[in-house]
Amino acid sequence: MRIILLGAPGSGKGTVAEALRSACGFPKVSTGDLLREAVREKTPLGLVAAAQMGKGGLVDDATVLALLRERLAREDCRDGYVLDGFPRNLAQAGSLDALGLSGPEIVFDLRVSDQVVLERLASRRSCPRCEAIYHLVNKPPKKAGFCDVCGTALVQRADDTPEVIKERLKTYHAQTEPLVARYAAKGYLHRIDGDAPAGTVLRDVRRALDAALGRREGAGS
Ligand code: AMP
Repeated sequence: MRIILLGAPGSGKGTVAEALRSACGFPKVSTGDLLREAVREKTPLGLVAAAQMGKGGLVDDATVLALLRERLAREDCRDGYVLDGFPRNLAQAGSLDALGLSGPEIVFDLRVSDQVVLERLASRRSCPRCEAIYHLVNKPPKKAGFCDVCGTALVQRADDTPEVIKERLKTYHAQTEPLVARYAAKGYLHRIDGDAPAGTVLRDVRRALDAALGRREGAGS
């Protein structure tokens, strides 16, 4: 099974992916996390990616696809995975189809207003080591400034500044949002109100997932 999370930056994709991982056991595969790891480790791909990420645009498809293929080849993805941040344009969606899949594909569109994105990302802090996500008001760490999971000092992502966020939103509307219509036409799409509090979003996603899987089992597929 493949679960795809679509949504603007700050729409809650990472939080939903993490919740699905603990509820269903499917690993969270985030191309943003993979890219940041490559940047930290200064791999050849990371050096290419860093410049593109800092401006709020997309990293080129070949680089992202190379990282993704490597990640999906690992054993933990064999029965299914949750994609956070991929595909981000129509070409990537075509590449994903070409990778093939056994089992259903389910797509969630986490719909958020640009205003909510700007507010959320200004208060977002993340762990540079394990990529856990916090919000200064809605989900503060137990010990201020440090990750609950691994104790590392939290940071504000370099691309979570107001100027870069505006660019990332533009990139999202121009390149990623058209995917909503693509997956709706295939009948795979579930729209979720991403402006709602995290608990409501997670409940809505679980309900939609259970209903979609139940329907498919009922249909014998
Ligand atoms: P994210 O953590 O998903 O917000 O991604 C952070 C940044 O990584 C984005 O602003 C892009 O520059 C880059 N990125 C992540 N996923 C992709 C992708 N599928 N294609 C191209 N660039 C990506």
